[in-house]
Amino acid sequence: MAQSTQVVLTCDVHDGDAEAVDTVAFTVEGKSYACELCEPHLAEFREAMEVWSSNSRPVRSGRASQGASSRAGRASPSTPYARRSSGL
Ligand SMILES: [Zn+2]
Repeated sequence: MAQSTQVVLTCDVHDGDAEAVDTVAFTVEGKSYACELCEPHLAEFREAMEVWSSNSRPVRSGRASQGASSRAGRASPSTPYARRSSGL
């Protein structure tokens, strides 16, 4: 006897059950989020995010191998030994 399990994703924003069509993942201020959205909520999410994503640059996860040298090497602002008094 064959047995099959069907996984149905439901929209996380809906009050009732609505079938989700996609999972969106995003990071805001260092926190990562993911949620399943139905078609109307997905369109709403994309529309809202377009304002911010169109003015932002894409960031790849992991360490960048190129272009890291231009911004590297700046001293951290809170160096405890930055000031040295000449008097004893
Ligand atoms: Zn929904």
